[in-house]
Amino acid sequence: MIVVLNPGVDEVEIKEVEDRLKRLGFGVHRSTGENRTILGAIGAPKEDARDALQVMPCVEKVVIISQPFKLVSREYKRQKTEFEAGGAIVGGDKVILVAGPCAVEGREAFLEAAERAKEAGANFLRGGAYKPRTSPYSFQGLEEEGLKIMAEARDLTGLPIVTEVLDQHSVEVVARYADIVQVGTRNMQNFRLLSELGRIDRPILLKRGMSATIEEWLMAAEYIVSGGNPRVILCERGIRTFETYTRNTLDISAVPIAKELSHLPVFVDPSHGTGDWRWVTPMSLAAVAAGADGLMVEVHPRPQEALSDGAQSLTPEKFVDLIRMAERVAQSIGRTI
Ligand code: PEP
Ligand code: MN
Repeated sequence: MIVVLNPGVDEVEIKEVEDRLKRLGFGVHRSTGENRTILGAIGAPKEDARDALQVMPCVEKVVIISQPFKLVSREYKRQKTEFEAGGAIVGGDKVILVAGPCAVEGREAFLEAAERAKEAGANFLRGGAYKPRTSPYSFQGLEEEGLKIMAEARDLTGLPIVTEVLDQHSVEVVARYADIVQVGTRNMQNFRLLSELGRIDRPILLKRGMSATIEEWLMAAEYIVSGGNPRVILCERGIRTFETYTRNTLDISAVPIAKELSHLPVFVDPSHGTGDWRWVTPMSLAAVAAGADGLMVEVHPRPQEALSDGAQSLTPEKFVDLIRMAERVAQSIGRTI
């Protein structure tokens, strides 16, 4: 059961509700967000307890939720969530296109990639300034210099930017530049990082952990939302299976399932999901057909020269073809691109 308190309640009022919950036999978990305080009542819900709490003047609402994830669940909020991110509406009828290279490789290269992504029809620009690489000898990213280049590309193209944060220490610097802060698959269960992201005023794109169940993914989103940041986008990016033809197995079924269990918008990354540019377009079409609210696609002007993930990057020309086809799929389910 969750007790949502009115915005602006003071400590005395919060304590009063906490004491009431304890007297009713519940354990209490308090989460303090920027705008409101939410009390998780731990224990079996009771109808009369709900009534007893609902009448308290500082209580906005009492919600009985059976899922382990609470605030992100459809039980808590029936309508799908739409929110503003970088001037765009995420989670609405329009399917959002995020495109750009895997990494910010240098100023000239990124500005060119940004212009090409814009011309092709992207709505957001992606690029990693902090790269989580399997090998410590691989290109690790340009760090803050890369963020500055991304900001310059945003000024040049007008496209808002999505970029990954790797650890708690760089949340502040990444949030200063990014319009959407990305949490990568390897960090999906970095709970300290998630809690920190709950405290910032920036939308978060939360990739699914490569070995995470849908429930674990939604619990990760719960960390951010219960910390006070409601603007979370779930992003399916493929999971580890026994299959080796693809880098990961893109779990398209996760899209309608996550959307049924949660009110949050769901994006799909078919680039990391497959690892091969040849499968990126068909899987993008499948993702749109399955109800994805956005696509994140790696696009590079010269994939053969990319410092990371060239094999799964589309050329801008191929990205244009993808969009043309995806528009038709979107139209057939009453959406636009
Ligand atoms: C990325 O989008 O650059 C990335 C590293 O993705 P993932 O965390 O899904 O591997
Ligand atoms: Mn990549």
